[in-house]
Amino acid sequence: MEMAWPYEMCSIIGYRGPGVASETIVRGLKKMEYRGYDSVGIATLSGELIQIRKGVGRVSDVNASMKLDTLPGRVGIGHTRWATHGGVTAANAHPHCSSSGRLSIVHNGIIDNYLEIKERLMEKGYYFKSQTDSEVIANLLQMNYDLTGDVKDAMLKTVSELAGTYAFIAMFHNGILAAARYNEPLIVGVGKDCHFISSDVLGFVSQVSDAVFLRDGEIAILDSDLSLYDFEGNPVQQTVIKLAKNLLAVEKGEYAHFTLKEIFEQPSTIVGTDQGGPEFDMLSLYLKHAKNLYITGSGTSYNAALVGSYLLRKYASIRAEPLVASETPFLPLHFDRQSVLLALSQSGESADVLKAVNIATKGGARIVSIVNVPTSTLVRESSVSIGLNCGPEIGVAATKSFTSQLSTLYRLAEKLSSDADFRDFDKIPQSISEILFSSFEIRKIAHELRNVSDIYVLGRGIHYPIAIEGALKIKEITYIHAEGISGGELKHGPLAMMHDGVYAILINPGDSTFVDTLAGANEIKARGAKIIGISDKPNLIYDRWIKIPSVPEVFYPLVEVVPFQLLAYYAAVERNADPDYPRNLAKCVTVK
Ligand code: GLU
Repeated sequence: MEMAWPYEMCSIIGYRGPGVASETIVRGLKKMEYRGYDSVGIATLSGELIQIRKGVGRVSDVNASMKLDTLPGRVGIGHTRWATHGGVTAANAHPHCSSSGRLSIVHNGIIDNYLEIKERLMEKGYYFKSQTDSEVIANLLQMNYDLTGDVKDAMLKTVSELAGTYAFIAMFHNGILAAARYNEPLIVGVGKDCHFISSDVLGFVSQVSDAVFLRDGEIAILDSDLSLYDFEGNPVQQTVIKLAKNLLAVEKGEYAHFTLKEIFEQPSTIVGTDQGGPEFDMLSLYLKHAKNLYITGSGTSYNAALVGSYLLRKYASIRAEPLVASETPFLPLHFDRQSVLLALSQSGESADVLKAVNIATKGGARIVSIVNVPTSTLVRESSVSIGLNCGPEIGVAATKSFTSQLSTLYRLAEKLSSDADFRDFDKIPQSISEILFSSFEIRKIAHELRNVSDIYVLGRGIHYPIAIEGALKIKEITYIHAEGISGGELKHGPLAMMHDGVYAILINPGDSTFVDTLAGANEIKARGAKIIGISDKPNLIYDRWIKIPSVPEVFYPLVEVVPFQLLAYYAAVERNADPDYPRNLAKCVTVK
């Protein structure tokens, strides 16, 4: 089968059991909201009648106006959409019914050959109510069902005709749910007398704790039982996995937002990573013996990869080439049996990272990974994986997962080094707590930044990845233009941008980069821009000083990133932007 890659950023869910399907589905969709979406809809079956309600906006808002959770029935499907084909309208929101109204589908992904299928179906008299690619699944499946009279055969025929990426669930008028997975996540939740099927365990983990993960190229059929088949129709063995209890701990508690809660959890989460045990040892061995070692990630995870590459090089004399995951298909890389790819991902579902993994695997390389979600695709595709164990991260902007990635990379560098002494790591949680304790000072600066249009973040050496990460946090949740710059590059371009109204944030702890970074400050100041210094030492050149505790040079990344998280969070709040759900972004970027 031609390899295609996923695009979706949203969620699907199906339920079949004794409960009220609409209530259960709306609850599940709310739990998965963090994944990002623009519209929402559900369909339930009562008797043989499929009823659909859908609209544009947040689950709570659409539910408030359309009373999604009052639809009757004990079988249902739901969807949050991230539009790829057709505008963000109620008509394009899922579920979509077949022309006869006898089945309804929800879909994540993209059907590449939808136009061709649509034309074929229209010639046969099927009609379409939306501009989506997804709607073809409904009519194609209906046609194949009418042809074969059997759900399984209809599903097999349908998937053989679809090209693209998909996880879809179909609800038939007889109460059967059928689903297929191809390069989009899909998981069955198994209860005593009920089944769920969803793109994220958070959709059902509050109700059932057993899960069966579908693999790519598998079909699930749910009537009173669950049956799994491959795309050839052969039965597939079901492996039931017990879901971790901590997945339930996804409440905001006393915090206004998940992002703030997750920032404040860091003193404890950075010490919770896997740092011993057979997986840790084995992963270290792979790094040690790799002939070509690459380290990859996307977004924040790539910034962690940059720090990781620095640490391994400096403390363990191991060269790990950092790779932007999405660049992997376009780089002249050489993966072979002596190569190792270390993949970093919070969710373990990032499409770009999985694509890099796929390319490396095809070349014969070993995949090792550091992942937060233990049940993710990346973990399953790795020879060995170690966990971040920082608990579910709901805020779209990665915070605690980043510092946990760094602390894992520190532990690995320490293990692989003959002389690095990272004992002072134990003091870092306290240092982070001190910054959190002074967050009201950072809030004042965030207030000042609320109407600024450009922020430049400068750092050298090991601080450069944090400059990029700090700028990324600001962009992601405040929508203020921010750029991370290597301090020495100032004169080679960015200095032209320094003028009144611009802010430069200098990452400038008192280490070997201090003097050089400070030199740039004078040049910036002379052009009228304002300077915020993040440092353990005050300096008159700073218009604002964010004090961080003095720590051994190697650990500064772990502490100096925290002021950026707080600055970005408070500036977002000041600008009335929702820090948990930034516009146009999704937590689980299964997007190419
Ligand atoms: N391509 C489909 C659409 O635009 C599904 C998008 C999604 O995954 O939400 O409706």
